[in-house]
Amino acid sequence: MSEKLQAVKGMNDLLPPDSARWEWFEGCVRALMQRYGYANIRTPIVEPTPLFVRGLGEVTDIVEKEMYSFEDKMNGDRLTLRPEGTAGVVRAVVQHNLLYEGPKRLFYIGPMFRHERPQKGRYRQFHQVGVEALGFAGPDVDAEVILMARSLWRDLGLTDVRLEINSLGQPEERKAHRAALIVHFEAHADLLDEEARRRLHSNPLRILDTKNPAMQAVVEAAPKLMDFLGEASLKHFDAVRAVLDAVGQPYRINPRLVRGMDYYNLTVFEWVTDRLGAQGTVCGGGRYDGLIEQIGGKPAPAVGWGLGIERVLALLEDSGVPVPAQVPDAYAVVPDAAALATATVTAEALRALGRKIVLHGAGKDGPGSMKSQFKKADASGARYALVFGADELAQGMVAVKPLREGGRSQALRPLADVARWAAEISD
Ligand code: ATP
Ligand code: MG
Repeated sequence: MSEKLQAVKGMNDLLPPDSARWEWFEGCVRALMQRYGYANIRTPIVEPTPLFVRGLGEVTDIVEKEMYSFEDKMNGDRLTLRPEGTAGVVRAVVQHNLLYEGPKRLFYIGPMFRHERPQKGRYRQFHQVGVEALGFAGPDVDAEVILMARSLWRDLGLTDVRLEINSLGQPEERKAHRAALIVHFEAHADLLDEEARRRLHSNPLRILDTKNPAMQAVVEAAPKLMDFLGEASLKHFDAVRAVLDAVGQPYRINPRLVRGMDYYNLTVFEWVTDRLGAQGTVCGGGRYDGLIEQIGGKPAPAVGWGLGIERVLALLEDSGVPVPAQVPDAYAVVPDAAALATATVTAEALRALGRKIVLHGAGKDGPGSMKSQFKKADASGARYALVFGADELAQGMVAVKPLREGGRSQALRPLADVARWAAEISD
């Protein structure tokens, strides 16, 4: 035997039965998107590296150290596995001129890649759901996307997620704040860690986002961006808050909420939980009115969020939310190889009527003993066994045998008229 190969560190296989959770979750997401009128978009996993450098900002965690980048061997192009979804969606929207017909509401589900230290809730391949509302300038749409996440928590049965919001204002307002920040941090340079000192002049705002507990005090005392916001920015923020208040959604204003990408302006928000330790942000987003122009499109406003599927599923598990099980209606037990063809014909007829049927798979030497087949039928979770025994087949019948408490009693049903009894074994 050759040496076993392993998956790349931080990149996980998703196996049954856990994958059932994922499918259920994705079903909830798709239903949610339809309720809000968001259409699905699917963009490539590989994008030109400059898209992220330009889109996310050069001095960000992602671009500085988390991207999986490589050179195309054929032509030397710089390529990157997408670390997030927004830049690619904006690239596609610009490339295909999608906003020509008016604003667009879009969503995506898919894998993202970041070279981070793997730990609980942090992986190198992880998965996001994202929404992007493009071409809308109004604060009502900021509130709309925030409330979509709230609806999702409700649909999933999650209660332990809190909303934090902030406003990053506009670039000029940030510039004034940035100057004040540099003055503050320069005055306390001895309290900064190496990373903060390096960012002091390149991206002082990101120092506020530090996870270093030793720097909490100096960060707490820093000038607040909110005090630098002009009238229009404050009005936008107040309008978002007014909608949240109107629908009774509580929130905390967190002046230190700055988000990891440079593209945000005005409203930013995160949905956080205390149940997942340090990896407590399950969903984050905000407005990015400058990004479309930055990627080469005609200037247009936009707002969106990204949600970490692994974290939401971990939260569901931690909160004990049950996931509807995927079980077959019936398991077809085939005592003798001679019955396999009839069993297949019957299973196909039942499946065509929408029943979920698992057919016992035969081995090299036939289907195996009844005992082992019934064991498998039981383990499948099916509520009925369909027994294709020789006696039953001779009468043109199949035995429908309940495997669970509360099922109907055992009965013979005609092979020739599956439609008459298919409903009996549905859930
Ligand atoms: P964090 O502060 O935890 O690193 P982030 O600000 O880098 O998060 P975003 O870029 O906003 O995260 O991505 C949106 C969501 O994607 C996060 O809120 C989180 O739920 C999830 N996420 C981000 N990075 C990872 C990762 N490496 N593994 C799993 N989930 C992730
Ligand atoms: Mg991160």
